[in-house]
Amino acid sequence: MEKWRAADRLLKFSSRFASAVNWNNSCKSKQGKYFYSVATTVHRNPLFSSISPDDISYFKTILGERGVVQDALALDAANTDWMGKYRGSSKLLLQPKNTEEVSQILKYCNSRCLAVVPQGGNTGLVGGSVPVFDEVIINVGLMRNILSFDKVSGVLVCEAGCILENLISFLDDEGFIMPLDLGAKGSCQIGGNVSTNAGGLRLLRYGSLHGSVLGLEAVLANGTVLDMLGTLRKDNTGYDLKHLFIGSEGSLGIVTKVSILTPPKLSSVNIAFLACEDYTSCQKLLLEAKKKLGGILSAFEFLDSDAMSLVLKHLDGVRNPLPPSIHNFYILIETTGSNETFDKENLEAFLLHSVESGLVANGVLAQDINQASSFWHIREGLPEALMKAGAVYKYDLSLPLEKMYDLVEEMRVQIGPAAKVVAYGHLGDGNLHLNISAPAYDDNILAKIEPFVYEWTSKNRGSISAEHGLGLMKAAKIHYSKSPETVQVMASIKKLLDPNGILNPYKVLPSSLFSQN
Ligand code: FAD
Repeated sequence: MEKWRAADRLLKFSSRFASAVNWNNSCKSKQGKYFYSVATTVHRNPLFSSISPDDISYFKTILGERGVVQDALALDAANTDWMGKYRGSSKLLLQPKNTEEVSQILKYCNSRCLAVVPQGGNTGLVGGSVPVFDEVIINVGLMRNILSFDKVSGVLVCEAGCILENLISFLDDEGFIMPLDLGAKGSCQIGGNVSTNAGGLRLLRYGSLHGSVLGLEAVLANGTVLDMLGTLRKDNTGYDLKHLFIGSEGSLGIVTKVSILTPPKLSSVNIAFLACEDYTSCQKLLLEAKKKLGGILSAFEFLDSDAMSLVLKHLDGVRNPLPPSIHNFYILIETTGSNETFDKENLEAFLLHSVESGLVANGVLAQDINQASSFWHIREGLPEALMKAGAVYKYDLSLPLEKMYDLVEEMRVQIGPAAKVVAYGHLGDGNLHLNISAPAYDDNILAKIEPFVYEWTSKNRGSISAEHGLGLMKAAKIHYSKSPETVQVMASIKKLLDPNGILNPYKVLPSSLFSQN
């Protein structure tokens, strides 16, 4: 059952750079204006060196000719993020083949004060994976070996450059699954997933990577290799430092190996696509699903009517699963269990009860693999549909469930007819993806969104980054979600592990915290 999902949900990103706008200035739009975030202007740290011919020669002695990429086309792709929104001007991409090479590169860069940006599959959505200026790009994509898999414990140990999709396929053959799954799986790397603490579609069931990553290996800015690659579920010997690297977005070290606990694959997967007429019903349905489906509930995703209209308009081959009209809200429910008859009957009884009690206005249970994958395609195709629709301002927020949709409605009033407010997300995790879709990037629209969206989130005790990270987009906004004392401790940790600040500068924390003298 898992196979069809893996194959169908693989997104091919290879053509995305062809459509990326060829802006000629870092972080600037065609008009030369900053658009990604209000008041997020950063200046190149003058303490950083620029690449010299001697540096190139040195890197070639470590990596050979093939590991030192200066080809214009490859650099163009590596300088541009998935959305075509952030663009650096790096002249160098390094591709190490093992941890020792990563260590040698970083040691050298640190001694020369050359800034670097660690890059994985480059599918990040906050401008964290591409250079801001001329940082050296280090991509561990050639480090893609599976090192061990223990069929009894389910512990997988692999190199950080493994593509998530490949790990899913490998585990599928072994009768296991990855505890995380996301629409970008065909391109993203496990090292990137760990570094962003990616959430995705299975978090509801299997929890965050802080739980399932058992160990990792990381290289610090000065080249020191930290071996924390444990495979134990319990290990209380001192501070659990691996957690610093989970979600630190390449700002504290380069992750080179990962050990991860994987659950066994279960044979019975069922998917329902439902319509609700109001947001209160969506919330009640979630509560009911948790109560009635309990342990077999594996996904609870939602989209609103604007999101559905967008997908129907921009994604090829998508049909409205509940015709003829568009409903106000849609919920995708997935259950995963081991007893096919029981699981299906359980879901059917839940759906019947939900319709009878008026929570669900209409719904359909997937009858075969094709129908099930077409339902997932609607939810997972949303980022692509938004890209096709024009310019998009993306916000990834955690909010108390009962408040979540109030923000969407208030944003619609705030923006007016100038842009469409499109909402979807991982409702089961309290995670809203708020997207403002406009024909083109426009400072007037941005001024209506920010700081409103951050202030609203902060006032309601939400988080301005649920799962995508802060990257460049929100580095200067961290105070909306974290206290000054907390941010100060983060800055101290950064200074301790990376005193020269060479690792992914300008990202995650406000540049103002780091003196440039
Ligand atoms: P990159 O984008 O290359 O890098 C992301 C960050 O990690 C950067 O700061 C980079 O410097 C750092 N980094 C990368 N590799 C390393 C390394 N080895 N060591 C240290 N730092 C490193 N995210 C979710 O959480 N949930 C979703 O459901 C989800 N769905 C998505 C759907 C689509 C269509 C797209 C395009 C993106 C989606 N994302 C989602 C965002 C993105 O895919 C994730 O953040 C993913 O984990 C990034 O992995 P990557 O390998 O592409 O990393």
